Amino acid sequence: MYPEPIEQYFQPTTLAAALQLVATHGSAAHILAGGQSLVPALKARAVPARALIDINRVTELATLTTRAGGLWLGALLRLTAVARDPLIGRTASALADAAAALGDRQVRNRATLVGSIVWAMHWGDIAPAAAALDARLCLAGPAGRREVGIESFVVGPQLTVLGAQEMVLALLLPAPPPHTGSCYLKHGRVVQDRATLGIAVCLTRGPEGRCAEVRIALGGLAQHPICRATQIEERVRGQIFNAALLEDLKHWASTTITTHTDELASAAYRRQLIGVYVPRALELAWQRSAESGR
Ligand SMILES: Cc1cc2nc3c(=O)[nH]c(=O)nc-3n(C[C@H](O)[C@H](O)[C@H](O)COP(=O)(O)OP(=O)(O)OC[C@H]3O[C@@H](n4cnc5c(N)ncnc54)[C@H](O)[C@@H]3O)c2cc1C
Repeated sequence: MYPEPIEQYFQPTTLAAALQLVATHGSAAHILAGGQSLVPALKARAVPARALIDINRVTELATLTTRAGGLWLGALLRLTAVARDPLIGRTASALADAAAALGDRQVRNRATLVGSIVWAMHWGDIAPAAAALDARLCLAGPAGRREVGIESFVVGPQLTVLGAQEMVLALLLPAPPPHTGSCYLKHGRVVQDRATLGIAVCLTRGPEGRCAEVRIALGGLAQHPICRATQIEERVRGQIFNAALLEDLKHWASTTITTHTDELASAAYRRQLIGVYVPRALELAWQRSAESGR
């Protein structure tokens, strides 16, 4: 299917020009980044197509820098770059894992981290990984800049707090404490499928083999794009990390996390997956925390 005729197409080359266009056109325009979600939606005529603001020439948005020890990941960073970057791989492995797990190579070469978070599908790979890493988003609009934690930004499936006159400039990751490891694991029906289950864990080792801190976020549960497993976090935090703890979590995780049935899987099958993947992801994050990065 062809999209409806697009009346106006803008290609700003500076951030100031892009922000001006977004402020002027508001909800009448769509921001076009990698186009991997927006273009299929336009072709299906699922979203109106009055005006497009193509930000691909705004090179200021394609930067990866360190700020206050953390990372500033510009809104135009492609998933291929994220998956391959050694600094991200060392300090934010969950995000590198999620970027590598999303779609196929052609999709990853175009798609951006931020585009995936803004599209906010309940099976999206990026948002749970970013939530486990306690990421924030930097937004800019006519009122200036503001930072929003990712769990406040994504309020539901295909729903965020992004204002009509705002755009996202970057994803921000805090500096990881020493002895922190993270990962993202995905289960799909077939290779390169949407997530039937996605799980991200970020864990910090404490003294005497204990888990000092842990954040667990799940996606693909047929509900909210980000589901924090706070009860499991509480059960793991402060505990000696060993095989007995992981064994205990197998049953416990599958009975405490709420999930639903959709066209990808039944709730009963997802509960089984949760029992397998929660201990598996915790173990991998624990192994990675033995190295000093994240
Ligand atoms: C074949 C295929 C397979 C896929 N497989 C997966 C998968 O396995 N897992 C998965 O999670 N996703 C998958 N996707 C979905 C897609 O890859 C992601 O949603 C993608 O990352 C979106 O990023 P983008 O840069 O292409 O965004 P776009 O499509 O350009 O934009 C998406 C939305 O974000 C908005 N937006 C983009 N940038 C900004 C910004 N800076 N500020 C404000 N708003 C912005 C746009 O206006 C639009 O509403 C797949 C897509 C395809 C086509």
